[in-house]
Amino acid sequence: TADVHNITSGQVIIDLSTASKELLENSLDAGATQVTITFKNHGIDSIEVSDNGTGIDEEDFDGICMKHYTSKLRTFEDVANVRTLGFRGEALSSLCAVARVDITTSTKSIQPRAYKLEYDHHGRLKSKQTASRNCGTTVLISDIFRNLPVRKTDLVKNGRREFQKAVTLLQSYALIKVGLRLVVQHVDSRGRKGIMLATSGSKQLRSNVLSVFGANGMAGLEPIDFRLNISARFKLKACDMLLSVHGYLSNCSFGKGRSATDRQFWFVNGRPVKLQQFSKAITDVYKTFNHLQCPVILLDLELDPQFIDVNVTPDKRTIFLHNEAAIIEALKERVTEIFSSQDI
Ligand code: ADP
Ligand code: MG
Repeated sequence: TADVHNITSGQVIIDLSTASKELLENSLDAGATQVTITFKNHGIDSIEVSDNGTGIDEEDFDGICMKHYTSKLRTFEDVANVRTLGFRGEALSSLCAVARVDITTSTKSIQPRAYKLEYDHHGRLKSKQTASRNCGTTVLISDIFRNLPVRKTDLVKNGRREFQKAVTLLQSYALIKVGLRLVVQHVDSRGRKGIMLATSGSKQLRSNVLSVFGANGMAGLEPIDFRLNISARFKLKACDMLLSVHGYLSNCSFGKGRSATDRQFWFVNGRPVKLQQFSKAITDVYKTFNHLQCPVILLDLELDPQFIDVNVTPDKRTIFLHNEAAIIEALKERVTEIFSSQDI
């Protein structure tokens, strides 16, 4: 087993993307079906995430913003089988260290009564007031990086770009989470509101893809759904490794020479992750069918959690897959097959 400190060291909140993603993950872990994320002035003034999840129990108020506090891992062995998006207990405490954090929360048993909680720099509960809201939680992060002048200056300078980066990362959750009504909106310094992203809460992946990419972006996408037996194909011993692959890929009617590097999304068991080697492999296959440059990729790999290690970096976006090379090979073979069978 890994050392406990491995999962607790490092910095989680490095920019607006990680801040907003961590908050969204918390809402999803709390079972939310509706989440609204509001960026004020590109997030420089504030980011607010409001959900209809379970809410936070009063007995947890003191703990949630303390370093390493998590309600999601009961034993250390759970790390190997983690199904929740969060498990490191670092996001809220890191946010407290770099921003002002206010939480309003209510549970099923106390709604419409609620509590408004304010936390200090160290994640200690500073004040608790009664408030009102339905079951769920609103986390308001304001004045991010107020105590880190260099990062703050950088953020103010590149606010628009940083905000775009955050929206792209949130897109990956909007795409994969079926049954979630996600709204991401921006409010500028004059109070004008714009919707950046909105999903309907449909149970269909297709509907999410339509909401995020639009009807034009959907054209030329091929639904993908297959299973691979990695251990049988590569005669791997000592394990039975099955892989389900589900999502969308550009097909041959996708525009010639069109590039879609900003539309390559990988997921492992529904968790958005970076899989650069995988993107490269699929792109290589497309290049052999020479008129396609860079495909749209939206693929969820489903496999037994025992073959995955998500606990590699604090942002949980880099992961290790057992037999990665074999998985890539098998994927390339299958994508080649799918593509060859199309009428080019
Ligand atoms: P982690 O997600 O790794 O457990 P966090 O620092 O992100 O750590 O959150 C700490 C704890 O705060 C969570 O384990 C959870 O109990 C509680 N929490 C945070 N956000 C929410 C939310 N939106 N709804 C319900 N509980 C929450
Ligand atoms: Mg979390």
